[in-house]
Amino acid sequence: MSSDCLFCRIAAGEIPCTKVHEDDVCLSFMDINPISPGHTLIIPKRHYTYVMDMPPDEAGHIGSLVPRLAAAVKAAVGADGLNLLENNGRSAGQVVMHVHFHLIPRWPGDELGFRWPAKKADFGVLKQQAEKIQAGLKG
Ligand code: 5GP
Ligand code: ZN
Repeated sequence: MSSDCLFCRIAAGEIPCTKVHEDDVCLSFMDINPISPGHTLIIPKRHYTYVMDMPPDEAGHIGSLVPRLAAAVKAAVGADGLNLLENNGRSAGQVVMHVHFHLIPRWPGDELGFRWPAKKADFGVLKQQAEKIQAGLKG
């Protein structure tokens, strides 16, 4: 628990939230500034800044809840689709530095859109990158 972390304080009950689910490991609550109706967050109660810092059991616990939570969020607002999003680092859009997963309901033609500047891959580069990632997984 970090007293200067907003989501630690929400997890500790010091700051109110609109709760969806709580257990020993995690808390799910409504985003206070939703980017679409039903925008929900799920966080580990313990403080980790990035997903890379999470122990496998806590990440696994949250991961195991996601399908049911996503289905419930989607059904609650009658959405057509849903983005699962998790930002790591300021460059990736992370503002609250306590790991959190966004569940963002979507509708056809909604104002959020989805435009990432995808480019054709160079297969030599892909192979090099895959090998480096594989080496990192072994470390
Ligand atoms: P990030 O950009 O860090 O991935 O997302 C942070 C999210 O936390 C934003 O969607 C923002 O609206 C939400 N948020 C920030 N402060 C609060 C708060 O006090 N309560 C709740 N429920 N959500 C918050
Ligand atoms: Zn925290």
